[in-house]
Amino acid sequence: MSGLLLADERAAVVALAQRMVRDRLVVGTSGNVSQRCGDLVVCTPSGTDYDTMRPADVVVVDLDGTVVDGDLRPTVELPLHLVCYTEHEARAVVHTHSTAATALSLLRDDVPAVHYQLAMFGGPVSVAPYATYGTTQLRDNVSRALAGRSGCVMKHHGTLCTGSSLGAAYDRARQLEWLCDVWMRASAVGVPALLPPDEVERVVERFGGYGQPPTT
Ligand SMILES: [Zn+2]
Repeated sequence: MSGLLLADERAAVVALAQRMVRDRLVVGTSGNVSQRCGDLVVCTPSGTDYDTMRPADVVVVDLDGTVVDGDLRPTVELPLHLVCYTEHEARAVVHTHSTAATALSLLRDDVPAVHYQLAMFGGPVSVAPYATYGTTQLRDNVSRALAGRSGCVMKHHGTLCTGSSLGAAYDRARQLEWLCDVWMRASAVGVPALLPPDEVERVVERFGGYGQPPTT
């Protein structure tokens, strides 16, 4: 791997993409991962099997999306990632097609406050309206849903979470899927009780700032 631009960061992106498959947050080649390094972004390539992906397959682009290094095309969802870096101060982005969140997106416009962990996103989490994948319309819908938050659900699609590191973004992706799963399970047998908005706000303050729990 010697001589590869941002070799460690590319390896970290591969490792996380493979973990998404193991953790069932994506199926096949769906979903994507990126992290920002200065004015560059390291992102998963389009349509490549995560099991056989190597660091050299990971693409390096600038903040306009121009490829700086790499032989493959960047993920078709690159506009989603770039807007998180240019508009939302993210350092890493994880986009999943996880089951419970996608199912919830067919039923609701927000993620119900079934658990205080919702506060790790900075407050109530929205479901971004549907638009065709890879379009600027989807980018804009997601950017609006992310205002003041570190994650959102995407209708008929999946989730998108940001963080100060790949690990932080990934933890949010798993937590968001879990929150949606809890609601789906509870609502399958009844009408779930929800935390009142002022309690969610109280926990947001306890977590501090942009929703980073003090324990992580
Ligand atoms: Zn997607």
